[in-house]
Amino acid sequence: MDAEIIAIGSELLTPFRQDTNSLYLTGHLNQLGVEVAFKTVVGDTRAHLVQVAKTALSRTDMIILIGGLGPTEDDLTREAVAAALGLELRRDPELVAALYARFAALRRQMPENNERQCDVIAGAAVLPNEQGTAPGQWIEGNYAGRKKIILLLPGPPWELRLMFEKQVLERLRAALPPAFIATRIIKVAMVPESTCDARIAPIYKKYADVQTTILADAGEIQLHLRSRTDSLAAAQQRVDALADELEDELGDTVFSTGGESLEQIVAYYLEMRGATIAVAESCTGGMIAERLTSISGSSRYFLGGAVVYSNELKTAMADVPELLIAQHGAVSKQVAAALAEGIRRRSNSTIGVGVTGVAGPTGGTEEKPVGLVFHAVADGVQTEVVERKFIGDRERVRRWAMRQALDLVRRKLM
Ligand code: AMP
Ligand code: MG
Repeated sequence: MDAEIIAIGSELLTPFRQDTNSLYLTGHLNQLGVEVAFKTVVGDTRAHLVQVAKTALSRTDMIILIGGLGPTEDDLTREAVAAALGLELRRDPELVAALYARFAALRRQMPENNERQCDVIAGAAVLPNEQGTAPGQWIEGNYAGRKKIILLLPGPPWELRLMFEKQVLERLRAALPPAFIATRIIKVAMVPESTCDARIAPIYKKYADVQTTILADAGEIQLHLRSRTDSLAAAQQRVDALADELEDELGDTVFSTGGESLEQIVAYYLEMRGATIAVAESCTGGMIAERLTSISGSSRYFLGGAVVYSNELKTAMADVPELLIAQHGAVSKQVAAALAEGIRRRSNSTIGVGVTGVAGPTGGTEEKPVGLVFHAVADGVQTEVVERKFIGDRERVRRWAMRQALDLVRRKLM
């Protein structure tokens, strides 16, 4: 079955608020075997709402409307859906009484306009809202000659989630045919998107029955595989077969097939080897430490680090010789290596990491352009340095550098 999600609210048409509810719902719907065919964002304008609801009714069998269920004048979803369906809106006296009681329990006087939240579309089942005052509504019926499910859910994300999980999920499962869906996520480090796609396209194109989606971020590509067939075993078999072929092609650039993040994999290797790590970061400004410490239990292997932006601190905190900086410049292979070795010695860690580069957009020179970054990993025996020239704005260059450093550690421990 296909669904349409309609996110309602004029604020969602400004640069200041995003429709995040539909992302949450899409994840759940996909798991139930429902594809989201359309997403619409519409402001709090009655005529537009009716128009959008009518359009949705003409093209999909499941329609989920989010928001506009509050008590104020701009909350028009109930009215608009009733109008689009040609159904009556009736104030439910039991809901009204319960709402007054709820306000009374909080020792508050209920403004009369709150009663609007108790208007129910004829034939709808009411979905209680434990987190807020606006109930949701579930409508199931024949429209335009087809069986349709129409849902009205509240806009505040915490209300929507609780209502969906407690009131909607089971009802949907019961109303839909069973879905057999298998998924896999393969994560790849430090391969440019175009290179990755050129290598894997010939493979995934052979699997017409497996949906392959490529999500690229600086230094990380995620391949999302999804198969839907008439049995779970068959779906799983197709996804696994494609995953195996992709892994063979991409080799050790694949760091995870079970959903783990790069830092989780690094953490896993560090723990497995009983190793510890310390970092000396210049252009990444602490991003590597932030990622490593995002994992609970990281104190078992992450000793600490230093953000050494100035030359003086590179020397004072990571023992980088002044002469080395004078000879080669702060952004150099030699200084990256010295940072990794210095922080390792100073902190007595198994592994030291050093990063220095030009994040931009200012500060680049002909010899040391914006995006040039040196990453080093030292283990007391050998120091490896990787030189990269990244493309992108400051944020992207820094993210690429952070991932490159983590990937270097991963490869060292692999
Ligand atoms: P409403 O029920 O339309 O009055 O929405 C109440 C609150 O929920 C507002 O602060 C909205 O910004 C937020 N909200 C509404 N719809 C969405 C959505 N689709 N995604 C995220 N937040 C939303
Ligand atoms: Mg609103």
